[in-house]
Amino acid sequence: EEMLAGQLIGGAEAREINTAAKAKEREQMALAEVRKTLPVYAYREEIIAAVREHQVLIIVGETGSGKTTQIPQYLYEAGLCAPGEDGKPRKVGCTQPRRVAAMSVAKRVADEMGVKLGNEVGYSIRFEDCTSDRTALKYMTDGMLLREFLGEPDLASYAAMMLDEAHERTLHTDILFGLLKDIARFRPDLKLLVSSATLDAAKFSEYFDDAPVFNIPGRRYPVDILYTKAPEADYLEACVITVLQIHITQPHGDILVFFTGQEEIEAAQEALQTRTRGFGTKIPELLVLPIYANLPSDMQAKIFEPTPPGARKVVLATNIAETSITIDNIVYVIDPGFAKQNSYNPRTGMESLIVTPVAKASANQRAGRAGRVAPGKCFRLYTKWAYLNELEDNTIPEIQRTNLGAVVLMLKSLGINDLIHFDFMDPPPAETLIRALEQLYALGALNDKGELTKLGRRTAEFPMDPMLSKMLIVSTSYGCSVEALSIAAMLQIGSSIFYCPKERKLHADNARVNFHRPGGDHLTLLNVWNQWAETQYSTQWCFENFIQVRSLRKARDIREQIEGLMERVELELISNAGEADAICKAITAGFFYHTAKLQKTLDYRTIKHPQTVHIHPSSSLHGQQPRWVVYHELVFTTKEFMRQIVEIKSEWLVEIAPHYYKTNDVADDSGKKMPKVMGRVAGS
Ligand code: ADP
Ligand code: MG
Repeated sequence: EEMLAGQLIGGAEAREINTAAKAKEREQMALAEVRKTLPVYAYREEIIAAVREHQVLIIVGETGSGKTTQIPQYLYEAGLCAPGEDGKPRKVGCTQPRRVAAMSVAKRVADEMGVKLGNEVGYSIRFEDCTSDRTALKYMTDGMLLREFLGEPDLASYAAMMLDEAHERTLHTDILFGLLKDIARFRPDLKLLVSSATLDAAKFSEYFDDAPVFNIPGRRYPVDILYTKAPEADYLEACVITVLQIHITQPHGDILVFFTGQEEIEAAQEALQTRTRGFGTKIPELLVLPIYANLPSDMQAKIFEPTPPGARKVVLATNIAETSITIDNIVYVIDPGFAKQNSYNPRTGMESLIVTPVAKASANQRAGRAGRVAPGKCFRLYTKWAYLNELEDNTIPEIQRTNLGAVVLMLKSLGINDLIHFDFMDPPPAETLIRALEQLYALGALNDKGELTKLGRRTAEFPMDPMLSKMLIVSTSYGCSVEALSIAAMLQIGSSIFYCPKERKLHADNARVNFHRPGGDHLTLLNVWNQWAETQYSTQWCFENFIQVRSLRKARDIREQIEGLMERVELELISNAGEADAICKAITAGFFYHTAKLQKTLDYRTIKHPQTVHIHPSSSLHGQQPRWVVYHELVFTTKEFMRQIVEIKSEWLVEIAPHYYKTNDVADDSGKKMPKVMGRVAGS
């Protein structure tokens, strides 16, 4: 009987595989047809010819015209990846500013070519390498290409590189401009494509010694732009109402709404689901689909699935959907006019992510998403006056509003010492550069001549902030590199670890507080990690403890990657069984730059460049007010909050960073009376 069952299953399986293969073939043919309908297809031969003729080519085309998915394929089909003089096959690379775009585009191209993702077509993002020796088309974040320079300064394994989404002007893309322009000089066989969605290509062309501009005329239907009569007090609520109004009163076509981040998207998703449930069957089905950087990739893929007949899809997106990814069949766009943007104050060292009005160029890109398949409508939730008078024309390039520590360290390890004369498209403020150099010097990554030290070379090996790398490197001398490794991984997840369903808030809060460890958040994170590891990475345990299992799985992947890097730079893995002081000292050795001291007013002040800051309400130290703390980062929401904090002793600063702190700086005013601290407000 067993045999028979086995055979039956075998037969069914075989049939299934057979039909699956046929379905795949059909799908493949359909995709081949779709490829031919893209605007870029009409220019296939011309693009290939232009790439053959010119070393550098600027490509401009409407979002959705097929630049990202098609052009690398054309170059591959034209034989650019054929083995060079050394007999080795070469790659075509394509950079993306966003991880999600790199992954989703690579997946699409693999489908179009009928290959398994990771084989001929692959992607590489931080802490995740989905490529192999066979990979000919490689999509990657701009940050990852920058890292590749460390191992292969001439990019010898590439026949062509496409710097995509150049208009976004991310920090990493801007640096790549300079590096690629430089290597193009001594690698005449390397083809360079710079592609952009805006029509402002003159600047790119000029920068690349008047490189020719290839224009792909897009098809774009008219988009009707509607403004609000008065400013919206609560744009989230206004978005929800506008979605429902469109759904109830407007002809079919999907909706795209731009939000600033995950929290907003989740709030809007919940509001929309609750309210549509209220309507019951009185209205057609409304599918609510979120897309943001930290969304798990299987959920991300959902936004590309066709909407079932009779239903309508509403995609709630961050500005990832502005130009990086194209969702078909969008007819309505709702644009509240905001995006999260980082800003940096070199004087105080304060980095913050602030919700900022978008620039006109972004607003116009967003509106454009409504006109790809049919005439569309864009609802701007701000006034026409605000558009005309309050929005900037263009977003300020990131290089001018961010901390340059990691990038300066990277450039130094590439042997680029003279940063003042680096060929920046738009140079960063001198103050920011100086501040970065100063910070790297304080960390011991640069010597007093501004040259990379041995420690600096090691620090640069890790794809993370130099302060965090320093913490890892010195943790061996504190005997706690295993703990530092776990903490570093937990700090890099990027999404929340604790899960707090509204209806079980009390239980969830209790579970969270139970993880708290005296000393602060890093130790709490370590505790969560250790407990989970002890259960052999149990999913059930996560459910029981209100922990996001996906976040921890991500930490596990990241931890493995960092462990590999530690091995490479020969950092020994030693554990001190969680002894807190040594761990906090290792953290201090990396983050002494981020020290704050309790004030009489019960808020905190940073030490060297004084600035008032506060303990974030999510911190395990919230309500405890330790005198001296070291924080991982500052975030600005309603005020300047320190996030991920540990308590330290002030004398450690002089002991650990004597070149930076003198006894005066850390005088503890112990004679003076400190305000009495109220009872501990756990987890509030
Ligand atoms: P561009 O780079 O010019 O903005 P793309 O090459 O990204 O254009 O997109 C071309 C087309 O490929 C889009 O119109 C879309 O239909 C399709 N596409 C791209 N990525 C995906 C994906 N992950 N899933 C499904 N379709 C996709
Ligand atoms: Mg693109």
